[in-house]
Amino acid sequence: MQALVYTANEQMTFREEPDAQSIGPGEALVQIEAVGICGSDMHAYLGHDPRRVPPLILGHEAAGVVLEGDDAGRRVVLNPLITCGHCDYCLDGRQNLCPERDLIGMYRPGAFAERIAIPRTNLIDIPQGMDAAAAALTEPAATAVHAVNLAGRALAGPVNEAKALVIGGGSVGLFAALALRDQGAAEIMLADTNPLRRDVATRVGTAAVINPVDQPAPKSYFNLVIDAVGGRTSRQAAIAAVTPGGVIMHIGLLDSEEGLDIRRITLQEITLIGTYTYTPVDLRATLAKLHSGAFGSLDWIDQRSLGDGPAAFKELHAGKCAAPKVILRP
Ligand SMILES: [Zn+2]
Ligand SMILES: [Zn+2]
Repeated sequence: MQALVYTANEQMTFREEPDAQSIGPGEALVQIEAVGICGSDMHAYLGHDPRRVPPLILGHEAAGVVLEGDDAGRRVVLNPLITCGHCDYCLDGRQNLCPERDLIGMYRPGAFAERIAIPRTNLIDIPQGMDAAAAALTEPAATAVHAVNLAGRALAGPVNEAKALVIGGGSVGLFAALALRDQGAAEIMLADTNPLRRDVATRVGTAAVINPVDQPAPKSYFNLVIDAVGGRTSRQAAIAAVTPGGVIMHIGLLDSEEGLDIRRITLQEITLIGTYTYTPVDLRATLAKLHSGAFGSLDWIDQRSLGDGPAAFKELHAGKCAAPKVILRP
């Protein structure tokens, strides 16, 4: 089969790979129809993720069709997070914290390929008539939905009374703004330094859009700040922008250090919550939301063939890609 393989730092190679083999018991072989490029794939491509060692087929935001067995013909979104199913976290519905969690495109082959083998329990049915590219947005959108839901439990008041700042206008940031709108947030601002991303966010129209370089977000103003970048500068901005007693949701994984004003966090009783991926329930709920139109038209996705993947990675790295999400179609 043809696959897009991360072969070395800043090198993606479209080439022939051994076909995905089914199949242990309980696994399904899925023909990939659409697969998104994630910020974490970019991170790996740049050699910044020690968990992803080349040569490796990346990609975990996928939708496709089951090829064989009892499920043949089912159109499905893949839950890329493979968990043990029997630890306390899994049994408690917090599968994203399973100590044995694995992700496709990390320690095992990912979905930048024609086919993939994956546990049947990781398949989620796509609603009838829904386009595969839209369905492939489920994973990044669910990451945002999970964060907004967790924030809802930590905020002092309801989400619909919250003033919210989202830092980062990639797909997770954009979906965070859309999920906040869906939950009726009183005020939503989105900050991004990339003018192309700001244009798209403005067109989507879900938030007031700012360039934080020219116009820093108002200080001590937002009950909720979602950091979908996760770097030193964005953390500094988040801590400056949040109100006393407010909540910061930290989603981005740009780097691990610096930018935390622990003194302000302490003196102002700021809640800082790290949030990682989603649960199977989040994925299902998010797929239904995407299908219902709750997150708008989704016409901002950029679709290309899998063979154009290497060029797409270069463009994304150069900051020349306007779309918050590039979807590859094998
Ligand atoms: Zn992702
Ligand atoms: Zn588990």
